[in-house]
This record gives sequence, C-alpha cells and structure tokens, in this order.
Amino acid sequence: MTSVDGWETIEGLILDAVGTLIEPEPSVARVYADAALRQGLVVEIAEVKRRFGRYFRNDEVDEQKGPMVTDETIEYRRWRRIVANVLPDLPDPDRAFDELWDHFGRPEAWRCFPDVGPGLKLLNDVGIPVRIASNFDSRLREVAGGLPDLTGFVPTLVISSEVGYRKPHPAFYHHACASLGLPIDRVLCVGDDPENDVLGAERAGLRQGVLLDRDDRKPAGLISFPNLLGLAEELAASRSRAIR
Ligand SMILES: [Mg+2]
Repeated sequence: MTSVDGWETIEGLILDAVGTLIEPEPSVARVYADAALRQGLVVEIAEVKRRFGRYFRNDEVDEQKGPMVTDETIEYRRWRRIVANVLPDLPDPDRAFDELWDHFGRPEAWRCFPDVGPGLKLLNDVGIPVRIASNFDSRLREVAGGLPDLTGFVPTLVISSEVGYRKPHPAFYHHACASLGLPIDRVLCVGDDPENDVLGAERAGLRQGVLLDRDDRKPAGLISFPNLLGLAEELAASRSRAIR
C-alpha cells in the first residue's frame, strides 16, 4: 500500500470480477485439461496454464492496439480463438469449445473469495455504492446470480460486451461511473489487473486505481490491498476520520 490520502471524499467503487471477487474452481487449467482428456488427449496442467496465460494475454494486448470495441459476438469469437490456441490438437475442437463455454457460464464453476461477502457488506454499511464492472461477457449474469454474495449486484452489472467497450477503453470506466451516478473523480477502480483495473482507470480520469493484490505481487508505485475486506476497512476508517 502507498498513499490513501483524501479517501474520505470517495463516493463509489468500481470492482472487477474475475481474480478480484471470483475465481474458477477447479482451475481453468484443470478444466481445459479435462476437456482434452475426454477426447483422449493428455495435456499437462502446467502446459495448459502456460498456454492459457500466453494466449489470453496476447489476445488482450492485440486488442489494446485497436479500438477495444466489443459485443457478444466478438467475445464469443475471441474465446473460440483462445480455446483453439490452448488446445490445438483435439479431434473435435468444436465440442471442446462448447463444453468449456457452457462450463464457465455456470455458477458452480466459480467461487467467491472468502473476504468478498464481508467486504461488500462493510461497503454497504458505510454507504459506499459499488458496481461490478467486468470484461467478462453476458454469462457473468448467470454466474453472479448463482453466487449468494453477488446476487444483489446482478441488476447493476456493467459488462463490456453490453457497454460496447472493453477495459482499458476510457468509455468503459465512464459508463460504470455514470451507472453509479457519480463524477469520475469520486470513484475508485479496484481489481487484480494493473493495466485494466489501475492504470487504464487512472488514464480515463478516475480518482484512483487500486490493485487487489491477492497473489502478493507488491508492484512498485501502485496502491494495493491484499483483499477486498482490507480495502473496505480503509475506506470505512477514512470516512470516520472525516466525520470526527
Ligand atoms: Mg480480473
């Protein structure tokens, strides 16, 4: 953590979803490896993990050179590309893609991090409104709807494929702030991705980006918290200092 000066004037929060509030359980690599195994192909978990990290990231990096415009069709095609790159040697790639697409659209495939429920409750108790704002596609509605800590946020989800722009396009963050009904300099953007959740949000003019550093990466120069509850406690303390 570096500086949280002036946080008593923060009026709202934009929260990333994957890696910030939820994670796949079992892991992405395990689920992909199992899909391959159902077609008789053995792929090491570590190899799947390496390929997924590379192709998911490359796909985003390529996009960042372009307009970052998106919709449901573009997301669907993007995931087809990623799956084909991660599992290139399958006898029936369409079947594997359909299975993986359906799997990650189900709430049973995900879990909330344990601090998320208490963190969201504390933010609500101190009167700081939240928007979950994600580069996931519309499957997030079904996923969040099945996770008890997140069901209350489904009506206000901000999803890039529905907004028309992906993070880190400025229009995405502006849309999320407008959804909160707040000026951008009163809103924190919080998430696990330094580019999409911290630097992109700050370039778009939001008050601050905060890294949720669940893997303890401790990146230099970024404000970070190990989990959502810690961040909520700091915001609550800032508010009570301002009232005194
Ligand atoms: Mg994330």
